[in-house]
Amino acid sequence: MMRAVDRARRALVPAVVMLTVTHKCQLACAHCYQANHDSEDLSTEELIALMDELVQMGTLDVVFTGGEALLRKDIFTLMAEARKRAFAVTLFSNGGPINAATARKLRELRVMRVEISLHGSHAATHDGFVGRQGSFDRAVRAIELLDDEGVPVLVKSSIVRCNIHEIFELQKLFAARPRVQFVSDPTLFTKDDGTSVMHERATPEMMEQHHAERFSTMSSADLANARTLLSEPPSEAEVDQRHPCGAGRTLAAVQPNGDVLACIHIPTRPLGNLRQTRFSEMWLDSEPVRALRQLTLQKFTECQGCEYRHVCAKCPALSFAESGKLEGHSKQTCETTKAYWGAIKKRLAEDGTRAAQGAEVRTLDRVAPRVPGCDDTTPRRFALRVVGG
Ligand code: SF4
Ligand code: SF4
Repeated sequence: MMRAVDRARRALVPAVVMLTVTHKCQLACAHCYQANHDSEDLSTEELIALMDELVQMGTLDVVFTGGEALLRKDIFTLMAEARKRAFAVTLFSNGGPINAATARKLRELRVMRVEISLHGSHAATHDGFVGRQGSFDRAVRAIELLDDEGVPVLVKSSIVRCNIHEIFELQKLFAARPRVQFVSDPTLFTKDDGTSVMHERATPEMMEQHHAERFSTMSSADLANARTLLSEPPSEAEVDQRHPCGAGRTLAAVQPNGDVLACIHIPTRPLGNLRQTRFSEMWLDSEPVRALRQLTLQKFTECQGCEYRHVCAKCPALSFAESGKLEGHSKQTCETTKAYWGAIKKRLAEDGTRAAQGAEVRTLDRVAPRVPGCDDTTPRRFALRVVGG
């Protein structure tokens, strides 16, 4: 039976829509892609009208994000309206505004997941990262309260050079709470005013060392999976036809001012604005979505011949930021992919005999997508369950 996401992909349904309901935020994270935290936000009525249209468009998941989405006074009204329309609801939060009552409310709304950003295993690291003392304690408390209520929680951590040494310890913080999931990601996006934060990135050498440690505990089954992925790539012709991600095909984003985007990380190419044009009109035909729908891996000409082309975490947003072209070469993507898969290759070489003994092959778990909907296509964004993020 065809899965809903496959049907959405074929029909170009905006299956996942990210609503940035405000840019306002009580924190000041150094790596945040939003340069400006003032925003004139769409009203409650405008967002509800959009949700009505999304029902007609076949949307499945609505993600509420910010800034800090919980700073909107009407956030629970909006979430309740989304649930009334049978959307699966995800909330991104820094955890600061979450107290016992908030956690209970989120449970009552039956949100699918709350994703909390946490960037260090110690208060000093996280608080320094987000620019506000006490943030670590508030985020940890939020995670505990949500988990106590039975709300699924995903802890998300950006890997940068100042916290990379704490990532494994951070992952262990919630070891006694098996429902709490953890992912980490070294990707950094240029701020939406064009300011670069790339000096914060962990170097390729740091990432290689990090991955080597991660992969040192891979099970033989995961090793077998990785071996299969690398040694039995699909044909070049098949890879050529793949799309890099779901942007503009199954994924859309809405800015606080009503700009509609194909991806939250391509803010300079809006499809249009909700205050002038209906969402459906923009989604069905506008230049930015046409460009993304025609974008296949064949167009990334600098990648022809690369051994990682079928597993590369290609991101048109990074390509665009670095080269001005959706199909341009992204140094960051390239370094991230090569550090990750290069470390797996080394691990496979060390463990050749054990992995070759026919361990059970099973489906690999996904790496954290940069945004929900990134990963609508192939095993490129898949990782090994054992490494946990
Ligand atoms: S890979 Fe993800 S972040 Fe990059 S353009 Fe696609 S949807 Fe956006
Ligand atoms: S690893 Fe680099 S060269 Fe290879 S496919 Fe990815 S971006 Fe292209």
